[in-house]
Amino acid sequence: MMMTEILDGRALSHKIRQQLKQRTARLRERGIVPALAVILVGTDSASQIYVRNKHRAAAEVGLATHDFKLPETTTEEELLALIAKLNVDPSIHGILVQLPLPPQIDSAKITAEIDPSKDVDGFHPLNVGQLFLNNPQSLPCTPHGIMRLLAEHQIDVAGKHAVVVGRSNIVGRPIAALLLNADATVTVTHSKTANLRELTRQADILIVAIGRAEFIKAADVKPGVVVVDVGMNRNAAGKLVGDVDFTEVEPIAEAITPVPGGVGPMTIALLLEQTVKFAER
Ligand code: NDP
Repeated sequence: MMMTEILDGRALSHKIRQQLKQRTARLRERGIVPALAVILVGTDSASQIYVRNKHRAAAEVGLATHDFKLPETTTEEELLALIAKLNVDPSIHGILVQLPLPPQIDSAKITAEIDPSKDVDGFHPLNVGQLFLNNPQSLPCTPHGIMRLLAEHQIDVAGKHAVVVGRSNIVGRPIAALLLNADATVTVTHSKTANLRELTRQADILIVAIGRAEFIKAADVKPGVVVVDVGMNRNAAGKLVGDVDFTEVEPIAEAITPVPGGVGPMTIALLLEQTVKFAER
């Protein structure tokens, strides 16, 4: 019987962070303290947890983080003024604005104001354009992490049929672009796709990022598929599960990411790596 390969994001993320420790140490020898500015507006509890985790992971690899916790009532002008200041501050190498922002602030406008060369999230329109022109400068961390996880496991995507479920700006669209850049044949699906499950069954590589607990079942995939599950959902029992029914799909897949421990840890590792890259430049 075929053994399914588990695409272990925790292990690879650990490896990347070990390498980053050495790189930050070399930077510090040159008198450069790589630094990430993290802006959090309001009191969204999930965002607070993400920000806390980012701080911890950054400190572990020798990256400095500068916290900017702004009140829920912050105006767009106030946030733009802070970004303008950080853009020209040579001691700051990366700027991250934790989303979602409160409704009085237009997040697209904020994203576009961040200096593209400090845009660790890769959300600035210039960086998005560079990705689509196959000349990426700064990549969104989650799709970047997925590509690294596939590469680590010697999964070559060239010539394969990759089906992406979901078309968000932070996962679906950029992972589709990265797969296309890597010579996959890419199908992008979404909530209006008529024959979704017919398409997922054709996938050699299936990337699922929709936010629906255990949506993809064994009948929706072909044997030998490589499955990347981006979803993070709580099921009825309160357990963290992906968009893929792992118990059903794992036995027939060639390789699959677990949830948790797959894509999640990679996202944060790539955020740290991008900050270090910016500091090295
Ligand atoms: P969004 O809500 O921004 O986008 C969801 C996408 O899925 C949309 O394109 C939507 O289609 C599509 N979709 C929703 N329901 C269906 C359906 N029934 N059939 C087909 N397509 C559907 O989500 P994100 O991309 O931000 O996140 C997706 C999941 O990934 C979430 O669970 C999130 O928590 C997780 N996530 C995990 C990360 C990690 O580091 N592990 C990082 C980022 C996200 P349409 O465009 O038509 O509305």
